[in-house]
Amino acid sequence: MDPVADARTILVIEDQEQNLYLMKYLLEANGYEAILAREGHEGVAKARSCSPDLILLDIQLPTISGYDVAREIRRDGRLGKTPIIAVTSFAMPGDREDALAAGCSGYVEKPIDPECFIGQMEAYLQDKADDENGTSEASQGGAE
Ligand code: MN
Repeated sequence: MDPVADARTILVIEDQEQNLYLMKYLLEANGYEAILAREGHEGVAKARSCSPDLILLDIQLPTISGYDVAREIRRDGRLGKTPIIAVTSFAMPGDREDALAAGCSGYVEKPIDPECFIGQMEAYLQDKADDENGTSEASQGGAE
């Protein structure tokens, strides 16, 4: 079984409808199941109830920020290794460092680039699969 091919459920936490639907469209068109949340508390609740393979997390959210959402998700032991990808504005480079400090695994920039988006998701899912199989940097380096 290919662990990356099996990882098909992605939670998208985003309050901007246009962006939410773009990500949902791209994910579903590529065989992923997209679970949607438009607000942070809802996002944390769905992360817990659905155990997604990856979480896309907008930083600018109503009620609680994406940083607080990431910290809350990381507090749940079962979700400790789930990739959380911050969706940050291209114009706000400081958001990226803050997102990583809050527990995010990486980031993608808004506006979402439809040409690159799925490749980015697959790279993050592959990293997670490598990590779980112990085939990250160390063993790849040894094969050369
Ligand atoms: Mn937003």
